[in-house]
Amino acid sequence: MSRFPRPDYQPLDLYTPDRRPVALDLSDNTNLWGAPPAALAAVHAADGDTLTRYPLLYADDLKDAIRQRYGVPLDGITTGCGSDDVLDSAFRAAGPEGGTVRFTGPTFSMVEPLALMNGRKPVEVPWSRALQSPEALLEGDPLIVYVCRPNNPTGQSAPRSWLDDLLAAAGGSGGPLVILDEAYADFAPESLITEAPEVPNLLVTRTLSKAFGLAGFRVGFGVATPAVAREVEKSRGPYKVSRLAERAAVAALRDEDGWALRTVAECTAARERLFLALKERGLEPFRSWTNFILVPVPDGSARGWNDALRAHGVAVRPFPACPDVGDALRVTVAPWPLLEHFLKALDAVLAEGRVG
Ligand code: PMP
Repeated sequence: MSRFPRPDYQPLDLYTPDRRPVALDLSDNTNLWGAPPAALAAVHAADGDTLTRYPLLYADDLKDAIRQRYGVPLDGITTGCGSDDVLDSAFRAAGPEGGTVRFTGPTFSMVEPLALMNGRKPVEVPWSRALQSPEALLEGDPLIVYVCRPNNPTGQSAPRSWLDDLLAAAGGSGGPLVILDEAYADFAPESLITEAPEVPNLLVTRTLSKAFGLAGFRVGFGVATPAVAREVEKSRGPYKVSRLAERAAVAALRDEDGWALRTVAECTAARERLFLALKERGLEPFRSWTNFILVPVPDGSARGWNDALRAHGVAVRPFPACPDVGDALRVTVAPWPLLEHFLKALDAVLAEGRVG
């Protein structure tokens, strides 16, 4: 048997989304309102120590800002280099080696690779099946159950009662670790973040890459019972959040000038306008609780749409043959003048009549 490369890494590949430069990039759900001014000020105020010294071991300043913002206890918080890192650490923390990660699909594209990177077997359960019976996520005794709410790429949010049924069926301590990915919950009316410290074997993950405009700094966090948070911290290791990133994240979370609050409100208003504008054009966009909208297109046409929009200077994210959905395009919500630019490109592509 090969020692290197790892045989179970064979299905893994490098992550290669289309990142060719484009005039308007609506492909990755980052914050098109820009960076929080308070975070930029914190970066400009940085001194030499910020570069030469190691950061805090486990990002205690960041944890304190999270405690203050969400009212959760310090010992129920874990942090990481993006929420990818929190998910990665959590996937490692559940033992023993091997085992499965069951997840509702379609969902965040990194779930499968993160499972494989950690020697776990990813098993997708279609949303349509999982929503009928949350027990479908527990078949085969998985180590980890992953649910994204609201979900990427559909933008939809599983009902709270369904989630409660899943958590009850998972059984708490002794059952699988249930990961609830709330990367987009800042744009949704409801979240489990404040309850998470009381729910055994639940980890709620969050990111500062979306509503807080800090994707370049790679900051994410998780909230759980102290027992779960500690195991994820062990698996994560020290020094994962850089000094500069921690300072920027603390300023963004404090949000003393209300920038995040304001831009989230603008984003949800723009989301509604975009939804209606897409409907007016005869499309059937999904209702969304996130900062993006998924728009189904005729089967086999997602890549064609993507290329045609790119030719007009706009990038979206194509989803060919998305389970339960078919072909679709995911469009990041942006300030309205940018969405007008997108709609103009869309109208031009529709008028050309070359795709779907
Ligand atoms: N979860 C979901 C559902 C996402 O869409 C993303 C980013 N696209 C992440 C987690 C990772 O976010 P980050 O690592 O930037 O915090």
